[in-house]
Amino acid sequence: MERKAMVHDKAAEGEVGHDLFMSAALDEARRAGEKEEVPVGAVVVCDGEILGRGHNLREGTGDPTSHAEIVAIREAAARRGGWRLTGATLYVTLEPCIMCVGAVLQARLSSLVFGCYDPKGGACGSLYDFSDDIRLNHSFTVYGGVRGSEAAELLTRFFARLRKGRDGTKSAPHGGDAVDVRSCGEDVGRGEFL
Ligand code: ZN
Repeated sequence: MERKAMVHDKAAEGEVGHDLFMSAALDEARRAGEKEEVPVGAVVVCDGEILGRGHNLREGTGDPTSHAEIVAIREAAARRGGWRLTGATLYVTLEPCIMCVGAVLQARLSSLVFGCYDPKGGACGSLYDFSDDIRLNHSFTVYGGVRGSEAAELLTRFFARLRKGRDGTKSAPHGGDAVDVRSCGEDVGRGEFL
């Protein structure tokens, strides 16, 4: 698949910083996995400080908007005391969906760093690209593929375990069908990215 040149002069952008904060996002993704949620994690960073953290909580909360990015953005806005997060960067382990890119635009975030691509749901270059649409009143810089293999591996393992449960060889999270595998990352689980 042809992708825009989103990625990256990592050296110029501070590879160490990207790595550090993506580590924090990966930690959040693991927390989601421990709760048998699809393992996606995110942090919002400004001036070298983590303002918000989040991981996917959709199953536990029953809230379809409880994606990692939304949780992290809400926490960051609460901490900053306002909705405008100009100057901040969102780090997330999986290319965001349409809803989450919408939240990035609404929050006026300045940049986005994501891990693995989501060719069937990603809205920052894979399926859509809302990061730099001149019809919108905001745009932001995107860096994709940062520690993408680690992020993808978390998803791959999660969905492999889910499928194994569905085959009846092992108990699946939430009794099998409760986790919607048509969620962000399904295709990572199928190995279609890899
Ligand atoms: Zn999302």
